[in-house]
Amino acid sequence: MPSWKELPGVKAGVVTGDVAWAIMKHAKENAYAIPAFNCTSTSSVNAVLEAGAKLDRPIMIQFSEGGAAFFAGKSLSNKNKEASVLGAIAGAHYVRMVAPAYGVTVFVHSDHCAKKLLPWFDGMLEADKAYFAAHGEPLFSSHMLELSEEDHAENISICADYLKKMAPMNLILEMEIGITGGVEDGVDNSGVDNSKLYSTPEDTWAVYEALHPISEKFTIAAAFGNVHGVYKPGNVKLQPELLDSFQKHAAAKLGDGSTKPLFFVFHGGSGSEKSDIASALGSGVVKMNVDTDTQWAYWEGILKFYKGNDDKLQGQIGNKDGPEKPNKSYYDPRKWLREAEVTMCERVQEACKDLSNVNA
Ligand SMILES: [Zn+2]
Repeated sequence: MPSWKELPGVKAGVVTGDVAWAIMKHAKENAYAIPAFNCTSTSSVNAVLEAGAKLDRPIMIQFSEGGAAFFAGKSLSNKNKEASVLGAIAGAHYVRMVAPAYGVTVFVHSDHCAKKLLPWFDGMLEADKAYFAAHGEPLFSSHMLELSEEDHAENISICADYLKKMAPMNLILEMEIGITGGVEDGVDNSGVDNSKLYSTPEDTWAVYEALHPISEKFTIAAAFGNVHGVYKPGNVKLQPELLDSFQKHAAAKLGDGSTKPLFFVFHGGSGSEKSDIASALGSGVVKMNVDTDTQWAYWEGILKFYKGNDDKLQGQIGNKDGPEKPNKSYYDPRKWLREAEVTMCERVQEACKDLSNVNA
């Protein structure tokens, strides 16, 4: 099996279309996954790129609707999702500009888009169209629709409609079926009955049947007991073996000799057992979202810096070494934000290792 680097078209910078899809196929065949990190600023993007460069592995940067709005600036109006559209586009362009300098192969993705957020999705697709017209590829690598709140038929049919718009630009669609527990981006599933936290083989097959005739470039975030945010231990049991049963069902329906026809995405995996992650990787998980753990890592760098230097962070002048001592070199944002980046960069590398996204 050739290395992912030998796949045709792989380069430093943002990958889209057939190249991006070939890496996902390679991941499935080699039982690793590309971690996708939620970024909200150039600082967090840089931390992810730095980690990708250190490991020399493909990586994914994703912007949520709220994270994208934050990227453009919290003070902007977002009444019609204009700040979310602008921030996601600005973020994608930023990644495109700097990733080649880092030497990193990167996917740019937009995260959870619920039905009420579709204007955000539409705005990003417009930007993809304009970029495609100019450069022959979309601005983003992939986008996610999160319609699991709707009934399955509506979820799948809206996904099919969007995939029809995305396929001519070679965009990858990620969709979610079955309910991921917990709270994320304003969707609160924390009260959902535990029995609804598991998808069925029929669910994922229905997605394949509807989407595959349009384009092969789609991934499924199926529910197998995963919970967005942090786990309450013992609350829900992760059953990654369900993914294997979904693959077997789809393979039997296809009857074409394929064994793992589905591409899965792992949402809500913070705090998962390593053995559950390994099992998921063997069952066709090609992408895993990482947000909560890197949020903590980013904060932890600042926390440690503050605790280690608190006397120098109370005023511009004066610390325990003397009342005249200047503190500028401590409160300069480049100092403490860098500490956040360093700890986030380490956590990003750890996530890559957990997902076997490391050079063997
Ligand atoms: Zn999700």
